[in-house]
Amino acid sequence: MLYRGSMKLGVFIERDGVLNVVRVERQHQVCPVTLEEMQINSAAVPFLAKLKAAGLLLIATTNQPGLSRGYQNRREMDRMHDLLRKTFALDDFFVCPHDETDRCPCRKPKPGLLVEAAFKWHLDLDRSFVISDKWQDAEAARAAGCTSLLINSPFVGKAHKDFVLPDIGAVVEKILRLKNTGRVMAA
Ligand SMILES: [Zn+2]
Repeated sequence: MLYRGSMKLGVFIERDGVLNVVRVERQHQVCPVTLEEMQINSAAVPFLAKLKAAGLLLIATTNQPGLSRGYQNRREMDRMHDLLRKTFALDDFFVCPHDETDRCPCRKPKPGLLVEAAFKWHLDLDRSFVISDKWQDAEAARAAGCTSLLINSPFVGKAHKDFVLPDIGAVVEKILRLKNTGRVMAA
C-alpha cells in the first residue's frame, strides 16, 4: 500500500449509450459505424467536465466486435473516437476488437480493458468508477473491484451493480459524493 497515495482515480465510461446516442432495434442497441452516423450525447458534456475538474481521469471503453467481424472499419472508428476524445476531454480510449468466439480477456463483461487501463495509468481500481447503461460494464466493474453506476435503461440486467440512477447528472453527483467520502461500500 506504500504507493497507494500516488495512484490516480479513474472513471471508466462505456461509449455507446453514454458518450453517443444509440438507436434501439429489437431490444438491441445499434451502434454507429461511421462518423456521420454518430450522434454525440451532448447532455453528458457538462457532467463529465465536472468529473474531470474533480481530478478524475476519464477513460472510455467499448466492445467493437465489428472490427473482427468486418463491418467496422478501423479508420472510421478512429474518426469517431477522435471526435469523442475532443468533445469530452477523454484521457484515453480502450477498445476490445474481438468477437465473443475469440474468448479474449478484454471483451466486457470481462475486466481486461479496465485492468489494462489501470496498469497504464496507475489507477486505484478499488476507488475508481464505471458508468454505463448496461449490465456488462457493471460485471466488469465488479470483477475489477470498481464501483458501478448504471443509468437506468432496458439493459441494466439482473447481475450485481452498485447503483442504478435515472440519468448521467445523478450518476456524476453520486460519484463526486462517493469520491469525497472515501471507500465505497456496495449498496
Ligand atoms: Zn477483446
